Amino acid sequence: MKTKLTVLLLAGLLVGASTVLAGPPSGTWQTLNKPAQFEKLKAGDKVLYVCSTCQTVTEVTIKSPDEAMEHCKEGATVTCPSCKVKVKVVNKGTPKNPSLAREVTYVNEKGEPCFFIAKAGEKS
Ligand SMILES: [Zn+2]
Repeated sequence: MKTKLTVLLLAGLLVGASTVLAGPPSGTWQTLNKPAQFEKLKAGDKVLYVCSTCQTVTEVTIKSPDEAMEHCKEGATVTCPSCKVKVKVVNKGTPKNPSLAREVTYVNEKGEPCFFIAKAGEKS
């Protein structure tokens, strides 16, 4: 299912992405950029693909834990469902100490971060 959010909200998300690539702009969004966060995803969980190439937010349902882990596997690719751009998964951090402060980023063919994945916060 494709959800087009308001330009304002999208702009807010993108500003958050380009400045820190970590931490959601508000308490209701969680940017997924740690392997441990992907490990917690279960089948049926919904995540948002936020693509700055075509400026859309697409809701994607996780089908299996294996599929979730594909989103944080170094060298894997994620395809934007809207514009079909392929982004590459790159784990930043120290290879010597992989458990510490690794950060998952998604880059385009120029190596620029252009995509991220967020999870909606729990409804209260
Ligand atoms: Zn796109």
